[in-house]
Amino acid sequence: MKRVTVLGSTGSIGCSTLDVLALHPESFEVFALAAYRSDARLLEQCLRWRPRYAALADRGAAARLRAALAVHGVGTEVLEGDAALIELAEAGETDIVMAAIVGAAGLPSARAAARAGKRVLLANKEALVVAGDVFMRAMVAGGGDLVPIDSEHSAILQSLPHDRSRWDADVREIVLTASGGPFRCAELASLAAATPEQACAHPNWSMGRKISVDSATMMNKALEVIEAHHLFGMPASRIKVLIHPQSIVHSMVAYRDASVVAQLGVPDMRTPIAYGLAWPHRMASGASWLDLAAVGTLAFDRVDPLRFPGLGLAYEALGMPAGACAVLNAANEQAVAAFLDRRIGFMDIYRINAAALEGTPLDGGDTLAGLLALDVEARSRAEALIEGCAR
Ligand code: NAD
Ligand code: MG
Repeated sequence: MKRVTVLGSTGSIGCSTLDVLALHPESFEVFALAAYRSDARLLEQCLRWRPRYAALADRGAAARLRAALAVHGVGTEVLEGDAALIELAEAGETDIVMAAIVGAAGLPSARAAARAGKRVLLANKEALVVAGDVFMRAMVAGGGDLVPIDSEHSAILQSLPHDRSRWDADVREIVLTASGGPFRCAELASLAAATPEQACAHPNWSMGRKISVDSATMMNKALEVIEAHHLFGMPASRIKVLIHPQSIVHSMVAYRDASVVAQLGVPDMRTPIAYGLAWPHRMASGASWLDLAAVGTLAFDRVDPLRFPGLGLAYEALGMPAGACAVLNAANEQAVAAFLDRRIGFMDIYRINAAALEGTPLDGGDTLAGLLALDVEARSRAEALIEGCAR
């Protein structure tokens, strides 16, 4: 019986994780659930799962949850504040930590799980984008297993040789697939007026709002290029992106002998989540079977840099000092939040990201403290840029 802690349990990945765990009560038990401030959803989850601990970063929400659990007579202990998330991530009783908080806010708890030697199921790609080297060093120091949950990176792990020492010699390049999001075929001129509702209406995946906007700008793929660089130790020059509108081929590995190995499946995050939980074995995920005859056609295309200029920022940032990726991520988080609040237009997201990347001094990006300082600095620069283009 493995004990699982789900950080970000009330989000899209968190809920899908609990759906998969519900299929395997003989193998897993929920030790702790944590989120930001969604006490009503977390209450439902606590009533269903009866975890030992629940935590909310927001103290007011934690107080509401504590009171509601007392009314229901449930013995789950409620912790609060950011420190509680770290405490739960490294708790001795936990075997597996699902890191599914959105944004750089997920970095401290994901890193704590890494250092504590947990099996880390990493959905929180921003942790690797902000502090890839620091995070990977923490994994090595802790000695636990790191299994990516992002569907592309799960696909790559499944397509790589089991013997990691062969990755560099055998692989020519990694090919990340991208659906192209909701605006793949939209009139370029119409994108300036795109609304949050249109940007969040992804054709294939149902996800949280931040990653949905990132998919529409293709900043999600930019973050995934950086993520792949750290996870698989590949230079940016050996990481390619290919548009694949059906989201059936989740990514591919091209080998030296001209073979290409890919992983396929329906677009359902329960598959990579089940893979992460069962790795290196397999177990049921609840996702439906892939019926390729019903899909009929799998299409592929190059990325149009005019439509998706954000993708190029990943390659730029990877060619700069280490702090550049942290700056790019911070600017993007601020810009996406401002777009969702209707303070800026859709195309402003790229402008703000590019300007922040160009204009932020990158000193000190080789330590965690330095990276977190850069994150703060980039957010305030992005805010000034947002003020500048606010309508
Ligand atoms: P979401 O917005 O649906 O959920 C986010 C979760 O994080 C919620 O439980 C929320 O309470 C919690 N949270 C947010 N800020 C927090 C904070 N400051 N402290 C503590 N908890 C906080 O997001 P999601 O779509 O589930 O995505 C989660 C992560 O997984 C992201 O990094 C995303 O890029 C990645 N991811 C998601 C998908 C997907 O299909 N949704 C696919 C691949 C990768
Ligand atoms: Mg992905």
